[in-house]
Amino acid sequence: MDLSFHGAAGGVTGSCYLLEAAGTRILIDCGLFQGADATESHDFGFDLRSIEYVLITHAHLDHCGRLPLLVKQGFRGEIILTPPTRALMGIVLADAASLQVEESERIGRHRRREGKPVPVATYDLPDVFETMELVGRLAHYQQPFELCPGVRVTFGDAGHILGSAWILLEIEENGVQRRIVFSGDVGNRDRPLLNPPTPAPPADVVIMESTYGERNHKTFDASVQEFKEAILQTAQRGGNVVIPTFALERAQELLFLLHEMSEADELPRHTRVFLDSPLAITATEIFRRFPEYLSPDARKQFGPGSDPFTLPGLRFTRDSAQSREINAISSGAIILAGSGMATGGRVLHHLKYNLWRPESSVIFVGFAALGTLARRIIDGAQYVRLFGEDVQVAAHISTINGFSAHADRDGLLGWYRGSGSPRTTFLVHGEDSSRNALATALEQQGAHVEKPLLLQRFPL
Ligand code: ZN
Repeated sequence: MDLSFHGAAGGVTGSCYLLEAAGTRILIDCGLFQGADATESHDFGFDLRSIEYVLITHAHLDHCGRLPLLVKQGFRGEIILTPPTRALMGIVLADAASLQVEESERIGRHRRREGKPVPVATYDLPDVFETMELVGRLAHYQQPFELCPGVRVTFGDAGHILGSAWILLEIEENGVQRRIVFSGDVGNRDRPLLNPPTPAPPADVVIMESTYGERNHKTFDASVQEFKEAILQTAQRGGNVVIPTFALERAQELLFLLHEMSEADELPRHTRVFLDSPLAITATEIFRRFPEYLSPDARKQFGPGSDPFTLPGLRFTRDSAQSREINAISSGAIILAGSGMATGGRVLHHLKYNLWRPESSVIFVGFAALGTLARRIIDGAQYVRLFGEDVQVAAHISTINGFSAHADRDGLLGWYRGSGSPRTTFLVHGEDSSRNALATALEQQGAHVEKPLLLQRFPL
């Protein structure tokens, strides 16, 4: 029984773990490297043709974004995930493929002029369609099933995004039994749409994320207050609010929150809200299809004649001409646009039109990895490079971590407690300072902690 690490080991992105046990080879997640972790290498570091199963914890790109590459390189096994993850992953991968094709064409034009070799997109839409065809069984929370002889699998609610899961594998190999749990991304408690994460099941081996291993978030209520103040102050200054938004979950949570503010008459008059992300718009439709995956409170709001994702003054701007029209608005707009870490997408245009204006504000509501534009702005850059120009950062910058889809330190420790006293705990998916801090906390509780490096392999 062996476990090896092929991503999110010494970084936050690219989650991908290979479990070799009971005569089979199982991949848990197959995420894309992003930001400072990004690499041009397409080598997974294992023989992918012999992989029989891929289990996907959730539809974020850093957990599923290399799947089409895996398929393109020859994987023909079965992909297993929850029903909402299947729906969301389809649109996330299609979006990623389109961006890659656009990007490689853009770079290609430059290189062609210089007579240099032209890059090829990592994968394209046909690769994504082929990937979706390999989706086999669907997993439902707390319903164990036999993956193959000797391996039972249970998905549990991770409370991170719609359909997100932790995954327990119960393995029997030559009379040895092991319970191995992969946390995926553990959700934050007290969020408006989802249930809190179900604690880890008892396990011998835990593979846990450590994104916020060194700090706790402000409470959700305090964060909502901060959010309201940032919006009101921006309105008073006569500027716009730009919110770099992850298309899954965060966009819907913000709509939900803005809907509540609007119902309570707390939004400034004449506020216009733009959901300027085709991906987020489609994801919002998918949320409506899976009310049973929402918290009981959120579910109640989807009654006849009521929809918590609507409010007066809200526009969904799907096509790019509608998006460009927003550039002409100088005040009273709240613009939700991707990408969440401002590494690309329409939010770059809105930053170009608002970042240099002291009356506007930019509100960051999620994790920003090292090396991303969001992180540079959060860390206090005076100028940032946008579309080949230096743009001054004069807008008000707020970071509201209480909206994070990730558990904070106490949340991670709380989730972990359910595992009992595992023999080994592997910490992944965290920058060094976070991972080290969480490792120290766990070691103080007597845990044996490993901090695996990329491609490191461990017998279990
Ligand atoms: Zn995630």
